[in-house]
Amino acid sequence: MVIAQTVFELLGVRRVEDMFFKIHPDYIKHVSEVRMEKVDCPRCNQKTKDAWVYCYDGDWLQENVWPICHECEKAAYAKDAGAKLVQKHKDVIDGDWYFIRPDDTAGFKNFEEMNVATGAAKQHAADYVKRLMDGEVRNLRISGTPGTGKTHLAKAVARTLRHKGKRVAFIESVKLFDKIKGMFGNPVAQERFEDHFKKFDLVVIDDVGVETHKEDELSWSSKEWVRLIDLRYGKSTVYTTNFDKESLRKVIGARALSRMNENTEDIEIFTPGEDYREKLFY
Ligand SMILES: [Zn+2]
Repeated sequence: MVIAQTVFELLGVRRVEDMFFKIHPDYIKHVSEVRMEKVDCPRCNQKTKDAWVYCYDGDWLQENVWPICHECEKAAYAKDAGAKLVQKHKDVIDGDWYFIRPDDTAGFKNFEEMNVATGAAKQHAADYVKRLMDGEVRNLRISGTPGTGKTHLAKAVARTLRHKGKRVAFIESVKLFDKIKGMFGNPVAQERFEDHFKKFDLVVIDDVGVETHKEDELSWSSKEWVRLIDLRYGKSTVYTTNFDKESLRKVIGARALSRMNENTEDIEIFTPGEDYREKLFY
């Protein structure tokens, strides 16, 4: 009743009838009686909602004042404000994990099919997106010679799924490992990192293998890879890399590679004749 009275006051009417006839001036001849009653609120199913009940040419009719009751209105507003806050928090996290610039338009449409292999790769990646949208949890590793469009494809996967409402991270492996190194001795940051990393529907790690610059870091980074891959258990992850499997074993370690192979399908776009095994370490 509180809201209704306020509205009446605003409109300069004091009685329920005056308000009613202000809205329906043509009813004056037909309506013999009008009053405001509490009727069932469709949301909380209690007699808490205001409605006009009136007698129109002898028939008792009812008209809504509000779609739901005041208490439900308040609750809906609070819920909406809460949801907005959660969304804002997610946006902040995503800003820290999603490194595709807004003006970067790399997608499926503008992916250049240079030959049969890249055409098949595009088809495979598009099919992967479709399966993830259907609820499949699956990893994808896109390996190939630099310049074959691996990152472009990975971005197309990330952007499409994000556009369809999935929570997506896209990060270069170097940046990912910089994040990890930056958290040494900070358990709170480490916990937050893990919490965020495992929650994304999809994480794309671009350029796997480049994060290891020195051979003496290999044992550490290999352990980190195992931990990262384990954190993504039950979720989907996409990797891109310049390395074939044999070289990848050397740069991320056998144990990490074996973990990475679990539930993972491959897109391979290697240009014949070129060999990138020479430059594993600096
Ligand atoms: Zn209600």
